[in-house]
Amino acid sequence: MTVVFLHPPSIYDFRKSPSFMGPISDAVPSTQIFEMYPMGFVSMAQFLDKNGFRTRIVNLALKMLNNPKFDAEKFIEKLDAEAFCIDLHWVAHVHGALEVAKICKRFHPDTPVIFGGFTSTYYPEEILSKFPQVDFVLKGDSCEAPLLELMRKIDGQKDKVQNLSWRKAKKIKSNPISHVPDSFDELVIDPKFLLKSILRARDVEGHLPYKSWIDDPIMSVLTSKGCIYNCVNCAGSAECYRRIYNRKKPAFMKPDAIIEQMSLNEQYLCGPCFFLNDIRMGGKKYYRDVFEKIRAEKFDPPVVFELFSPLDKEFAKDLSQTFNRYNLEMSPEDFSETVRKNIGKDYTNRDVEMSIKNAKEQNCNKFDLFFMIGLGKQTRETVGQTLEYIDGILGRFNGGQKFVYPFISPYAPTLDPGCIAFENPKKYGYEVFHKTLAEQYEAFKMPSWKYFFNYKTEHLSPDDVIELTYESGIRLYEIKRKHGLASDADVEIAKKQVCISRDIMRRTEEIVGMGEKEGHAALKSLKSEIDETMKPLMCKDSELNWPRGRKSLKMYALKCLNKIM
Ligand code: SF4
Repeated sequence: MTVVFLHPPSIYDFRKSPSFMGPISDAVPSTQIFEMYPMGFVSMAQFLDKNGFRTRIVNLALKMLNNPKFDAEKFIEKLDAEAFCIDLHWVAHVHGALEVAKICKRFHPDTPVIFGGFTSTYYPEEILSKFPQVDFVLKGDSCEAPLLELMRKIDGQKDKVQNLSWRKAKKIKSNPISHVPDSFDELVIDPKFLLKSILRARDVEGHLPYKSWIDDPIMSVLTSKGCIYNCVNCAGSAECYRRIYNRKKPAFMKPDAIIEQMSLNEQYLCGPCFFLNDIRMGGKKYYRDVFEKIRAEKFDPPVVFELFSPLDKEFAKDLSQTFNRYNLEMSPEDFSETVRKNIGKDYTNRDVEMSIKNAKEQNCNKFDLFFMIGLGKQTRETVGQTLEYIDGILGRFNGGQKFVYPFISPYAPTLDPGCIAFENPKKYGYEVFHKTLAEQYEAFKMPSWKYFFNYKTEHLSPDDVIELTYESGIRLYEIKRKHGLASDADVEIAKKQVCISRDIMRRTEEIVGMGEKEGHAALKSLKSEIDETMKPLMCKDSELNWPRGRKSLKMYALKCLNKIM
């Protein structure tokens, strides 16, 4: 018997009931079905394993994506599970998570189904009262120890299981989120655990974090849990951590634990290293300690850092003295400083330009600049100005080289439930029209991404966001062509894809007015065109790729195993 961690696709079953998902995932490594599972999956599975439970990770979404013939229901039916743990972290998985839970319950009515993640933490009562396929919700940002406790008491008293909500005699019971550890150093992920799990299950694919990982592996290092900033559209803000997950201040991974994680990554996988969350949030002493230890250990993987605030000369210098190859990511979101300030980012365009300049002077390899469409207070004009701004930035800083890479993509069609703007939409220029989880679940059954939106802004409806996305997609490619980042062929492909996307959007509108059976058949007839739009529109996959590390024999072996198993 095994505790099975199942990662669902965003929509179940996207292969049989195709839905036109648009470019909602273009700025992340996942495809539109969001097959990337949360890191917590591995840390929870590893924690249970260390404490005597047998565990298995199954990236169901990826298995379904890779093999059209893979029968997810048969697969779940055959699992011999002690419990099913399903992530409902981001609301985009609401449909897939609830449907996969239903399948688990259908074949294994006596096996507990456990939900966890940010969205689950925001909606525990609603999940347990409206969706009988879910038995337990583990809340908070650290569920390793509570899950172990729950598994030990699965047939007994639950009152002492921290962070737990459950159903008892049709009543919802809820323990507070009291497990909020200051340290998560013991959660360093050991790739040996994953390899053991892969061999035991004879399943490489089910353990892969996302589709392109096997070709472009990246190792993540989670430097902190929590944030010190308050972006109003983010459920991971400082205010949300306090209000929803009961974390009063961020916890930082100790420098020695970071070194341990890097060393394990280096031994087994050799990929580039992505430092999740802005390491500067821990203060100068903290990140300098980390960098000093990295230098002492002579680690030299290519690295990527996120910048939640502008890059000053000092940090840029520290980076260049520590790493031979480093990339940076910054998200000013919109050209307009008013729009940026409204979403909670208090820095100017001058700060953005200074950051790029400092990075360039200190030998940064690549500077990714992210902009979004669909923000509070944003208008068509500010999106247009953003594109002009990108043009200016590329002209000023690239000078024919490939250094700044701009991205512009739709804000995920859902405003994170519980984020500051979700709670107080009017103040920040939003209107939320799907507040409950059940409403959002219904929305994801609709035939196109237009209906996934749980919000509109005071200036932009979902239709506006979609049209602006298409216009900006083409315009961005033209700008990139002007600056040597895209070819004529890339521009033509983008135009063609926009043309197909607009046509599908028009045809899905007709489907919405049809009856269920007729609509389903009409949608199925669009499948091959919808599949065509699964290719990224707003950027090429390769633009998102992080720098490559040296080739690892173990990664090569993993690829071979993947082919055999
Ligand atoms: S989006 Fe803003 S609030 Fe959310 S994690 Fe990033 S910096 Fe923090």
